[in-house]
Amino acid sequence: MTDDTLPVLDVPPALKPPVDPAELAHGQLLDGDFWRRIPAYADVDEATFLDHRWQSKYTITRPDKLLRAIEGIAPQGFVDDAAAGFARAPMAVRVSPYLLSLIDWKAPEVDPLRIQFIPLASRFLPDHPKLGLDSLGEQADAPTPGLTHRYPDKALFLVIDTCPVYCRFCTRSYAVGLDTDTVEKVQLKPKKDRWSQAFAYIASRPELEDIVISGGDAFNLRADWIREIGTRLLEMPNIRRIRFATKGLAVMPQKILSDDDWFSALVEVHALGRHTGKEVALHTHFNHPNEITAISQRAVARMFSEGITVRNQSVLLRGVNDTTDSMGLLVKRLGHINVHPYYVYVHDMVKGAEDMRTTVQTALDLEKWVRGTTAGFNTPTFVVDAPGGGGKRNAHSYEHYDRETGISVYTAPSVKPGQYFAYFDPIDRLSEAAQARWADPAQHQAMIDAALEQARNNPA
Ligand SMILES: *Cc1c(COP(=O)(O)O)cnc(C)c1O
Ligand code: SF4
Repeated sequence: MTDDTLPVLDVPPALKPPVDPAELAHGQLLDGDFWRRIPAYADVDEATFLDHRWQSKYTITRPDKLLRAIEGIAPQGFVDDAAAGFARAPMAVRVSPYLLSLIDWKAPEVDPLRIQFIPLASRFLPDHPKLGLDSLGEQADAPTPGLTHRYPDKALFLVIDTCPVYCRFCTRSYAVGLDTDTVEKVQLKPKKDRWSQAFAYIASRPELEDIVISGGDAFNLRADWIREIGTRLLEMPNIRRIRFATKGLAVMPQKILSDDDWFSALVEVHALGRHTGKEVALHTHFNHPNEITAISQRAVARMFSEGITVRNQSVLLRGVNDTTDSMGLLVKRLGHINVHPYYVYVHDMVKGAEDMRTTVQTALDLEKWVRGTTAGFNTPTFVVDAPGGGGKRNAHSYEHYDRETGISVYTAPSVKPGQYFAYFDPIDRLSEAAQARWADPAQHQAMIDAALEQARNNPA
């Protein structure tokens, strides 16, 4: 085409200069055979690496194997530190080759994926004195084992107790994964009689419209279980929405691409939902932009092409996504691959993960910064899941927040009317004076009472 066949359009004058495409980092996804950087995978071709069976088979589930895999590529001091870390951790180990190859082994101490999956003894902080193993009180709100009915119209159904990965900071470390040296778990095995009791309860409650199918992780459900659970729920007249919760998309996207039986089961349940006017969605769990690769994009594209909505729930983690750069890039990159950033959870108060928690103030600052950077429907809500069963509360909605003692107080009028719930910032992030007060058990109740008193009499 020559210039005279098309009218020349003037670019309207700039109000601000265009952004250099090289700076649009959220669209630049890791591609190619990046796994070959790991000596153990140097000869693995793409077809093999993209096969979920290979990923599962070579998933590392024993600390000694993990340590052997990284020997030689990680500094020896790091390997020793990790060996000591595993001995103290409340979570079992499970790391896929895919995850292992996304970690920067030249600087593993600060790598945002290493922090999530591999504990280091040198980073351990003592647990907060107000921390409990089932910090959300999920068992107290369970009418039958593994079904938490806390909110009026929705319930959480923990169908299985295993995951394709084990996260150090897991909220359900009371039940998920194998027993470890420090924790004996509640049993949430995928048993049909336990499921039947949950189905019977759900069917008996007309107010229940929305079921979260979680665990553990829906990725570890067999295809026929996906069909069975999905069909049983969608056939109930009261049910309007279900969601399968899985971190699998983030840690083993290969399954979406190569486990056709599992993927078909999801597509079938989704189609049944469409034909009966009910929503079937998938909720996943990415925490850092480095977890989103060209492989993740292909996996999400396969679901997008089937019309399956994918939403993301992140956990706010110190050293991982607690800066405007990392959180900003995560939110934009999720939007780029058609995953809606739905929630960012302020880290629950779970055992052995104190080094990963951060303050409510961090959540408030990040929310303020992120809002406005992209579409409103791609802007996550920052929530505190109030310890003791208050449920998810917008982080900004505290009745009182004492930044000195790190105590924030929330209420949940539609969930637990009349009750007050306290969340506690990690102690090492407080002033020295406040740290000294927390070191003295005799002062704990006075600090809590003062915060509750303010919440009752001077709500924010
Ligand atoms: C998170 C959660 C739900 C779902 O809540 P949404 O805000 O709709 O995502 C349901 N039940 C329990 C117990 C939960 O923790
Ligand atoms: S995938 Fe979810 S349930 Fe499983 S260990 Fe991680 S945070 Fe816990």
